[in-house]
Amino acid sequence: IPVLSNGRFGEGDKNIGLVIVLNDVTEIKKLEKMRSEFAANVSHELRTPLTSIKGFVETLREGALEDKETADKFLEIIELETERLSRLINDILTLSEIEGLKGDIKLAPEKIKDIVEEVIYMLKNQAKEKNITVTYVIEPIDLVMKTNKDRIKQMLLNLVENGIKYTGIGGHVDIKVYAEGKNVTFSVKDDGIGIPKEHIPRLFERFYRVDKSRSRKLGGTGLGLAIVKHIVNSFNGTITVNSEVGKGTEFIINLPRTRDYEN
Ligand code: ADP
Repeated sequence: IPVLSNGRFGEGDKNIGLVIVLNDVTEIKKLEKMRSEFAANVSHELRTPLTSIKGFVETLREGALEDKETADKFLEIIELETERLSRLINDILTLSEIEGLKGDIKLAPEKIKDIVEEVIYMLKNQAKEKNITVTYVIEPIDLVMKTNKDRIKQMLLNLVENGIKYTGIGGHVDIKVYAEGKNVTFSVKDDGIGIPKEHIPRLFERFYRVDKSRSRKLGGTGLGLAIVKHIVNSFNGTITVNSEVGKGTEFIINLPRTRDYEN
């Protein structure tokens, strides 16, 4: 909805000019709507594990505590839901931090190999549990990029973690990073369950999941890809997804190098 305001300048009765200010508030309205939807979603997402925790605590109090096996099972669920709450809060904070610091990111020359190896190390147990092989190729291997280490790490962490989560036992997740002209391309590819085409356009929305119950079972928050997208945007980069159901998924990110470093 455009807002129209005008002012007239004149000497006496004579109009000598007309100023028309056109402000497009559509974008502002859209942002406001997104913000209030996000708040509603956050409350819902926080309430779900809380309701579950409360329910199990009540059942324990009402007698389930007497039966050790049941009690153990309930306590395990309570623990899992608590962990989910804490992940949710972390992801929400990460998102708002990235949004809040727009244009104010600390950049330094970073060796990409170190970041990739840290990410693989952080996820080694998750990969081991499913016997998933995580590999990496970096060209050139000593690639240095002027960037923000925390963000690149978070971006890769979310993508590789998804690769592991949505890939079956014995699968593969391959990370590739290569410098190409003024860009650095990151690719994270898995041979997992894939994503149906119709879901791809909405994948980066906050709390959007292809399969809600699967994401829940795997401990997902639905914010991982929204965070990735925000990070990519903060570097003026692009992200694309290639996926085939039953074959696997590849996320490709292109980031401009803010400055060239000799490799
Ligand atoms: P979640 O916490 O649910 O994993 P994300 O924002 O990280 O949330 O991802 C959104 C959804 O995209 C996931 O719920 C999942 O359905 C789908 N998805 C993300 N990465 C992959 C992947 N590598 N393979 C298949 N599906 C994926």
